Order: sequence, then C-alpha cells, then structure tokens
Amino acid sequence: MRVAGTAVPASSQLFQRAEAVVPGGVNSPVRAFGSVGGTPRFITSAKGCYLTDADGNQLVDLVCSWGPMILGHAHPAVVEAVREVAGSGLSFGAPTASEVELAELIVERVAPVQKVRLVNSGTEATMSAVRLARGYTGRTKIIKFAGCYHGHVDALLAEAGSGVATFALPNSPGVTGAQAADTIVLPYNDLEAVRAAFEAHPGEIAAVITEAAAGNMGAVAPLPDFNAGLRRITTDNGALLIMDEVMTGFRVSRSGWYGLEPVAADLYTYGKVMSGGLPAAAFGGRADVMDRLAPLGPVYQAGTLSGNPVAVAAGLATLRAAGDEVYAALDRNSERLGILITEALTGAGVAHRVQFAGNMVSVFFADSPVLDYSTVKATQTWRYPAFFHALLDAGVYAPPSAFEAWFVSAALDDAAFDRIAAALPAAAEAAASAVPEGAGA
Ligand code: PLP
Repeated sequence: MRVAGTAVPASSQLFQRAEAVVPGGVNSPVRAFGSVGGTPRFITSAKGCYLTDADGNQLVDLVCSWGPMILGHAHPAVVEAVREVAGSGLSFGAPTASEVELAELIVERVAPVQKVRLVNSGTEATMSAVRLARGYTGRTKIIKFAGCYHGHVDALLAEAGSGVATFALPNSPGVTGAQAADTIVLPYNDLEAVRAAFEAHPGEIAAVITEAAAGNMGAVAPLPDFNAGLRRITTDNGALLIMDEVMTGFRVSRSGWYGLEPVAADLYTYGKVMSGGLPAAAFGGRADVMDRLAPLGPVYQAGTLSGNPVAVAAGLATLRAAGDEVYAALDRNSERLGILITEALTGAGVAHRVQFAGNMVSVFFADSPVLDYSTVKATQTWRYPAFFHALLDAGVYAPPSAFEAWFVSAALDDAAFDRIAAALPAAAEAAASAVPEGAGA
C-alpha cells in the first residue's frame, strides 16, 4: 500500500511523522532498527505467522512481539475471548473471577509458585519482586548477571543486555549512584563469582535475580549446574532466588523453564505469553514471602489496571489453547529454523553458533560457544545487519538486533519455512561479505 503519487514507502513516511512526535520514532528502543540501520516496518495487521506492513508486504514473523505470540497472531480463541470480555466492560478497579483463574492456572503449572500478584508489565513484575525480596529479608543488595535484562527497573539496568547493548549504553543516565550502588553485577554462568560476592557481603544480599535462561543477550542457556548452584548458595546465605521467567515463562514449556529444569526459586516473574499479547504480567512464589505484600504485609505494591479483565482474558485463552501439541510445534519449529540457519551459514563459510534456550534460538557469529555477556560482545555482530536486511528484503522478519533471541510460533507452516529456506542462502552470503565498520570495503 504505497501512498498515491509517491515512491516513498509508507513505513518511511510514518517513521518520519513518528520521529517528529515520538522520541526516536518508537515506543521501545529496539524497534527503531538502530543497530541494523534502515527504517522500521510499521505493521498494520498480523495473522498466524505473518505480519503485514504499511506497504502491504507480508513478512514471516520470527519476533512474535518479542515472545508472547506462541499461538501465532490473531488466534481465533484469543481474539474471541478478548471480544467477549471487552463487551462487558474494560476495567473495574475491583476484583474479578478471571484474575483468580489466571492465578490458579499459574499456581497449578509451577509448583513453587503458591501465590501470584498480577501487574502490567515485566518491568513492574521484577521491580516488585526485588522490593519484596528486600522487604522480606531486611537486606539491600541484589545480585544480577551481566547480559540479563529484567526490564527498565533503575536498579536492574546495569549491564542489561539487548536493548542497552544495541545502543551501546553502558548504563543509563538517570539511574542515580544510590540506585545502582546496591546492585552487584556478575558474569552469567559463573557460580564462583556468586560465592565470592556472598563472602564479600555477608548478611547484605537480599536476592539473586537471574533470567531462568538468558534470552536478552541472545539465547544463552544456563550451564547444567548454574541455576541449581544459585539455589544452593542463596539458601545457604539466607537470600532469596528470583527466577525471571518473563521471556521463558509458558513459552519453553507449559510450566516455563521450570518445566525443563525444576529448580525451585522463591519468587518468579512472568509476562509476555501469560497475557497473550496484551499488557499484563505477574510475580509469584512462596506464600510466606508473597504474604508480606500489602494489604496483608507492609511491602507496598499496587496498580490501577492490574488484573485488567481484557488482558487476563487474552492470557487465559492463550494458556488454555497452548496444549502439548503447541509446545511440540514450538520445539519442532525452533529446531527446524536452527537447522536452516546452520545449513545456510555453513554453505557460505561463515563461522557461527546457533544456540538454543528451550525453543528460543539465536545465531552468533562466533567460533566457540557463547556462555556469557563478554563472549556475546566478542562475536562478529557487524555481520548481523547485512544478514538481517537480506532476510527482510526476502520477506522474513528476524529480530532487528544481533543481541536478541528469535521467537517462533506454533503457527509457522511449510510455506513459511519454504520462504525462510529460500531467503537464507543470500542472507548468509551477505553476512559472509560484511566487513567490520571502519574496515572499508
Ligand atoms: N524480564 C525479562 C527476562 C524480559 O525479557 C523482559 C522484556 O523483554 C522484561 C523482564 C521486561 O518486561 P516488559 O518489557 O514487559 O517490561
């Protein structure tokens, strides 16, 4: 759909308008194509595994709204649930039965979660979980891992992976020294560093927060004993373990990462899949910890739109529609995608690693395994823009950043895979011919 009488793509025209009134033209930084160059596609609609942009291009979607859309877009059961609930009122500021159902469903799926509080975004979930951990333990310090992102919570922005890495911001201005001072940032997958931090700060560390499997520096799964080791060390030192499952929760299995690796944390955070593409998120965990929240306990946390009935309806419909066959399809599709990427890059002679964390996939331009943020940053990310744009030109929408995981849906079909398979060889050649910035070509 070009605007009549002009050759300028509609997405470019919209981006120009957006830049005049929205900082950077976008409402979340990675959408701006800053690290891959070019103009972001404005999306007009989506169905199944396809997005349609403002110029009428149909794109195979390998971003899935950064994770939530496991069923594909506009899934009939989810759309119907939202329509039905919306017709009965959009927000009440009073409890509803559906909030209880969603909490019950999460509690039923993740054994260590005994109580759940609904919030509006993953950021709110992690912010609240950290506050609760501090309130519960009476301690101030938090350990997080470099390359893990837990939303744009002031205290958790240090070395926060994808978005921050994409824009080469080491940390964010606006976060005060006091807010950052109680955050200890350690290398991911390094239990020795965690032990040393507890030794250096006896009785001061309230919690360790970790992505259950890292997805915000690309897909970097925890080493086999890493999460279990965090459990042991936190227990031994009277600190809480917070598993951030905003990305992995109800995506990598019906019980999230916990379903793949049952390490019991004290608190969990959720978002994305559990709200089916609408704004809702949650944190939950041990009843004795959760009961420290207001109104039962002294740790304050609240939200005008928390438990919003329309978002809850989308979440419930998504989780109910995601049976075993959906999770089997997600696993199959991510494996199939990984094989195609590997074949193409091998064919073009590009050193690469295709890594998985459950059904999240990433391609790193590197020779050896990528285990933490320093190895991620050492990869040849300068190959990614050419790779990305060749895919996009061929109708395949990969994440617009080398530091992001790729997300499949269960809706990907053979036609979509044919398109991906057809696009990849040229993309791999483009990656092979790319040169580092400043190297000249
Ligand atoms: N935690 C993790 C692991 C995430 O991946 C994200 C978002 O990508 C968040 C927290 C923040 O969630 P939201 O963007 O809904 O605030």
